[in-house]
Amino acid sequence: MAYSALDRLQLKVVGKVASLMMAMPAPREHHEQFRMTVVRAEWAGPHIRRITFAAEEFTAYTVTGPDEYFGLIMPPPGEAEPVMPPERLNVRQAIQKMPADRRPDLRWYTVRAHRPEAGEIDVDFILHGDAGPGSRWAGAAEPGWVAGFRAGGSSYRRAAPGERQLLVADETGMPALSAILESLPAPAEGITALVEVPGESYRLPVTAAVEPRYLYRGEAPAGTLALPELAGEPMADLGYAWVCGEAGLASGVRRHLVKERGVDRRRIMFSGYWKVGQARL
Ligand SMILES: Cc1cc2nc3c(=O)[nH]c(=O)nc-3n(C[C@H](O)[C@H](O)[C@H](O)COP(=O)(O)OP(=O)(O)OC[C@H]3O[C@@H](n4cnc5c(N)ncnc54)[C@H](O)[C@@H]3O)c2cc1C
Repeated sequence: MAYSALDRLQLKVVGKVASLMMAMPAPREHHEQFRMTVVRAEWAGPHIRRITFAAEEFTAYTVTGPDEYFGLIMPPPGEAEPVMPPERLNVRQAIQKMPADRRPDLRWYTVRAHRPEAGEIDVDFILHGDAGPGSRWAGAAEPGWVAGFRAGGSSYRRAAPGERQLLVADETGMPALSAILESLPAPAEGITALVEVPGESYRLPVTAAVEPRYLYRGEAPAGTLALPELAGEPMADLGYAWVCGEAGLASGVRRHLVKERGVDRRRIMFSGYWKVGQARL
């Protein structure tokens, strides 16, 4: 499916502006869209649901990087399947233009694992109650439920040999950070990985050469422990930083690196995965 000239121009302008501000994500030429079915839904902790989705299209689907993300397209309450939006580069706009009674919800998640041979993906949903459609849907999902998949892209840039890298995430960035660590060839030297989560029950097993350092913040806002922890880290030779999680944590870490530690902003990829008090469309 070819996107319109306007869509392409929009992509170019957004990419150009972003490249001045931060380390650039990997581009994806075409954002496939299709329906997928829940085949397993397991509790990986009291607040974490690992859901496996299957679709024939996952056999040919390829990820652009280890922190590949996608748009989860959910049916409105009471509907069994979502009406898929028309294929546009700007999926949010495409959904907004749909009639209100057919309009699906869209939220963004990480492809924690992709098994092309089985036509499956795993997604780790960090639940936070019924405040938003993503957490509500994932908390209730059962085998047989149908959702839409919208291919996204990825952000992480692989480390050059010997390059010092810093990875920082909260619980929502933990699936992506875990997948990044698992993608690193051993011995993965010069990688510092910090994961700040509410408590130990949010910890997920990672099979990687580098163990993430977990910080438990309890009820305190995201970033409370990560920022002081970073103050003690040497940054002089930092080649790249990847920072994903609550918006205050992501922007706070970036500000600390740029303003207080003199790191070039184009070496930092940061993304607010969610924002306190706001829906993440
Ligand atoms: C690229 C990318 C990858 C992501 N990967 C994952 C992933 O693999 N797993 C995952 O669980 N999330 C992931 N997220 C984060 C997820 O998209 C957001 O948490 C999203 O807001 C959840 O949607 P919702 O419908 O549950 O809540 P929303 O409707 O977006 O928000 C409703 C309310 O809930 C609050 N809220 C949202 N998320 C949280 C949270 N985690 N904890 C506490 N309060 C919250 C908001 O502040 C708001 O007040 C990712 C986000 C991005 C951009």
